[in-house]
This record gives sequence, structure tokens and C-alpha cells, in this order.
Amino acid sequence: MERYDPRKLPDMPEMMIAGPGELHDEDLDVLGHQVIAHYGDVWTQIHQDCVTALGGLLGAADPPYVMPGSGTLCLDAAVGNLFEAGQKVVVANTGFFGSRLMEVATAHRLEVVEFPVEAGAPIDARAIGEAAVGAAGVLTVHVETATGVRHPIEDIAEAVHEAGAVYVVDGIASVGGELCDVDAMGIDCVVTASQKGLDGPPGLGVLALGSGGRERVEARSRRPSSFYLDLKRWDWYRKEWGSWHPHPVTMPTNVMLAMYSSIRRICEAGIESWVGSRAALAERCRQGLIDLGFESVARPGYGANLVVAMWADEPLEILGHLLKNHSLMISGGLPPLQGKSIRVGLMGRTATDEMVDRVLTGVAEAIRD
Ligand SMILES: *Cc1c(COP(=O)(O)O)cnc(C)c1O
Repeated sequence: MERYDPRKLPDMPEMMIAGPGELHDEDLDVLGHQVIAHYGDVWTQIHQDCVTALGGLLGAADPPYVMPGSGTLCLDAAVGNLFEAGQKVVVANTGFFGSRLMEVATAHRLEVVEFPVEAGAPIDARAIGEAAVGAAGVLTVHVETATGVRHPIEDIAEAVHEAGAVYVVDGIASVGGELCDVDAMGIDCVVTASQKGLDGPPGLGVLALGSGGRERVEARSRRPSSFYLDLKRWDWYRKEWGSWHPHPVTMPTNVMLAMYSSIRRICEAGIESWVGSRAALAERCRQGLIDLGFESVARPGYGANLVVAMWADEPLEILGHLLKNHSLMISGGLPPLQGKSIRVGLMGRTATDEMVDRVLTGVAEAIRD
């Protein structure tokens, strides 16, 4: 059998893809240490500090849940705990990940009403609020990773509440890189993951409840049909085993420590200033590509901070040139922009001016050749 030493894999490019990002050296160092026990005084304190930091970043008074798995696991948890089979939800089809939210809701036997959204356009808050009348909930992404569009979650939350529904946000491509303030914005549930805007390694999902989400979880007629994803089970462990083992399953301690190391960096900079610098970096990237003749998929004012998507005629040639001549990996398109776009991810160690400039240089060559 092959012996895979990750330091010696052949020709691994530097990543500027739409997630995950590369780890900062100090977080990588944390990840590479010995496994520790996922219980006991030391671990309980680490877990507590991590949950507190995430609650602070998300502006959520209700302590967020951190679950081993990817972001999608927590989308499953959100839908499975806030809704019950047969309830109606309105889901914004903003692109690949919006349409995946529809699939998640369908898998939970909800009645799904599609709210179509044109690629590049923001969700119309008033219109989705009107569509939500009579529905139990509304689900949207904050940033649609396929189009690089940031959607107006605060306005949507207000419109959804006026309609009497709860609002669930997929913040996997936004949290850490955009302001997403659960309590202040009136979001009932937001989900994110360790490996995108939080700059951590892949492996953890995060779910935070606002007051409306908490009410739903408490008011269910029956427990969710999943053991692992039942939030009341996670609550029970927090309360009854809190001083020793505050979660029902084994935690990937290294991954959590590495994520804590990266979110500490964000917290120390201050979330607003951190988001401001990601926004400036995204602007440098977007404007640089516009100067080369590309057109932004996102309409002006709605371009996201962690992923820049541009219309492109020959995306595979651009990707190939960057890979071959610069050892840089960016992303191509996802539906509905597959084969029609390029995307640059601004996450983790490579989210710097210098790296963006290297991408711009490479893209300029690719379109000249
Ligand atoms: C990456 C991404 C996902 C999927 O996250 P996983 O961690 O791979 O499960 C879902 N939604 C959005 C908006 C994403 O960017």
C-alpha cells in the first residue's frame, strides 16, 4: 500500500478555491498535536471557550452547538429540529446551495415551496415575506457560493417574521467573512462550518439558535427522528454531563483546537474589522478581474467577501493555466453557472493581497494566451 505523507504529495497547488481554505501555520501546528481526551476538566474548559467564542462571533446568546461533521450535517439538524414532517417551508433557490436547501427540506418530508431567484440578484425580502404567509419557515443561504452573492438576511428576517414564520440561514459561506448577528438581526437559526469563513480545518458543523428557533425546538410535538442530530439530546449532555463530557459523541479534539486557534485570531482582530478587511480583499479581487474585462456575477453591492464569482467563457482554460503555470487552484462554476464562471475563494492562509495579485497575474496571462 502507498504511504501518504501529506507533506510530500506531488505538486499540491496553493488553494484559492471556494472552500476550504488553507490553514494558517499556527493552526496547522495545533492540528498536528497528539489527540487528547474529549472529556475531563481540560477538555470541558476548551469546549466551553470555543462555544463562548462562537456565540460572540455570531451574536447569539443561546450557546451554539458544535457537531463533528460538515456544515451540511448541521443543516440537517436545523431542518430536523425546527420543523416537523408535513409543514410548509419556502426555500430561496439562489443556485447550487439554495437548491440543496430544498433537497434537505424535502428529505425531511417538508412541503417545499420554491422561491426562484435569478443568478446574481439578491433575494427580494418583501417578496419572500409575502410568499411565507401561511408557511412554518423560510430557508435561504446568506452567501450563495455558486454565484458569490450576499443576500440581505436582516431584511429577510424582518419580512419572514411579519409573515409569522421562522428564518433559517445557511451561513456556511458567510460566517467569519460577513456580519451575521443572530440576535440583533432576528435570525432564528444559522448554520456554519469550520472550514470556510472561520478559517479552520474541515470537520465541524456549527448551529446557533435565535429566540424564535429556541421556541420551535422547545415546542415540538415529538422528538426529531435522528438520535445524533436531536438538539434536546445535546442540551441534555450539556446540562447533565456539562462538567465532564458536555456532548453526546466523541469530539475531534484536534480539529476543534485548530478551529479555536483560528477563531481566536478573528476575535482578537474584532469581527467588524476582520469582515472589513475581507471585504477590501474581495473588492481588490473583483475589481482586478473587472479591469481584465470580466463581469461580476453578483450585482453591484451584493458581491460576497469570501467568494468572488465572475462570468467566464473559457473557465477550464483559466483554471488549467493557473494550475500549470502558477500552482494555484481556483474554482470553476457550479450550477447554474457551471462552465460559465470562475470563482476565487478568499479564506484561510491564502486570503492575502499578495495571493490575490498572483491570481490576477495568472488570469491576465491565461486570457492573453
Ligand atoms: C460549502 C457550503 C455548503 C456545504 O458545506 P459542507 O461543510 O461541505 O457540508 C453548504 N452551503 C454553502 C452555502 C456552502 O458554501
